[in-house]
Amino acid sequence: MSEISTDQLRSMTRELVADMGGDADMAQFRSEQFDRGLAVVQFPPRRGGLGLEPDAQAVVDDELASGGRHYHNLAVNPIGIGMGMPTVLAHGTEEMKDRLLRPCFTGEEIWCQLFSEPGAGSDVAGLATRAVLDGEEWIVNGQKVWTTLAHVSRWGMLLARTDPEQPKHKGMTYFMMDMRAPGVEVRPLFQITGEAEFNEVFMTDVRIPDSMRLGARGTGWGGAITTLMNERVALGGGVPARGSGNIGTLMKEWIGHAPPAGTAAYHVARDRVTRLWIRAELVRLTNLRARESASAGIPGPEGSVGKLLSAELNKELLECAVDVTGSRGMVHTHGYAMVRPEQAGGSGTFDTSRLFLRARANSIEGGTSEIMRNILGERVLGLPKEPQVDRDVPWSDIPRN
Ligand SMILES: Cc1cc2nc3c(=O)[nH]c(=O)nc-3n(C[C@H](O)[C@H](O)[C@H](O)COP(=O)(O)OP(=O)(O)OC[C@H]3O[C@@H](n4cnc5c(N)ncnc54)[C@H](O)[C@@H]3O)c2cc1C
Repeated sequence: MSEISTDQLRSMTRELVADMGGDADMAQFRSEQFDRGLAVVQFPPRRGGLGLEPDAQAVVDDELASGGRHYHNLAVNPIGIGMGMPTVLAHGTEEMKDRLLRPCFTGEEIWCQLFSEPGAGSDVAGLATRAVLDGEEWIVNGQKVWTTLAHVSRWGMLLARTDPEQPKHKGMTYFMMDMRAPGVEVRPLFQITGEAEFNEVFMTDVRIPDSMRLGARGTGWGGAITTLMNERVALGGGVPARGSGNIGTLMKEWIGHAPPAGTAAYHVARDRVTRLWIRAELVRLTNLRARESASAGIPGPEGSVGKLLSAELNKELLECAVDVTGSRGMVHTHGYAMVRPEQAGGSGTFDTSRLFLRARANSIEGGTSEIMRNILGERVLGLPKEPQVDRDVPWSDIPRN
């Protein structure tokens, strides 16, 4: 840690908790946390941080937890804090940083990510939503899909095509779109869990001021990479306490429903549970090591390691947890009435059947496991690249459905 010692950081955090007392609500508390640089410690002063190394955040979080004031960023504003704030910090103007960062961190303004389209998911650079400049404003027309939390969001991180005559990676621009602007329509998508946490978003002649452009015109791909790299770390880089999270769910079911001791079924299931425990601990320790060696800045392709390992592991842990419960596991306890989460952090139901069904999405959201393997193969291991026949072709000449 640079000029601020661990002890100093601890006492700064204790002071924050003491000064705010018990009456401040979450937004008030986190607003003060932001102003004192304890929000995202690797961010610069005045922007919620202190310019420290990222691992110093664990010291702050630890003290906040002891003081009963640790709010989980993924529950407060999952897309805004983990992915949006680093993107605005890297590519936004000073005015955008002043306007957007604090209310994002406090959770007063939820953000969503408007990247995927019906014809552009893994190949997001192929997207077709158009933004056309009209004086000092951009006019946006198109459709996005799978947009998590769009229905409660104030800001959408929008990737749109601004120059169709350029090759696909070069003709995009990144914007912050006001989700309350006229012409934005959000429709729910019903999921296997019974929830509708994500949406379709239709944009019809939506006007975005040029001042809400994130980075130079045509450089949207660079901004998108910042968002996606941070997304992979946010989704896969968590370091929960030993034995907590999905392995904790499996252990809870094992303790309650393991087959009778001494039977063949018991030995077989115990072997499976033990192997999963070891893998869960290996992923946790790998993420811990990655966090300790991370330096401030935009995460690299190594972030895909944690994303890939935890996505695949989560599915296996929860499959095993459902198997352990026996025939009870065939019932989705929560039922299928459509629930629309009214805030970030989902519906708050964490029964095993919901976790099992939700985990199916882990190897799709934030980039599929196949795409993670491609990134690791090409950018970490240096294997030959996938052929890209459309890389230098103008987007408008690429055949589409
Ligand atoms: C729960 C959830 C939340 C999401 N939230 C958001 C959000 O908030 N905002 C947003 O913009 N998007 C969001 N997404 C969308 C997500 O990013 C895409 O679903 C994902 O990138 C895959 O794109 P696709 O669904 O179009 O599948 P496709 O890209 O059509 O892929 C189909 C299959 O082909 C495989 N494949 C594709 N290309 C290759 C390749 N080059 N090599 C090997 N295999 C390949 C894929 O791995 C997959 O198995 C969310 C998705 C889920 C499930």
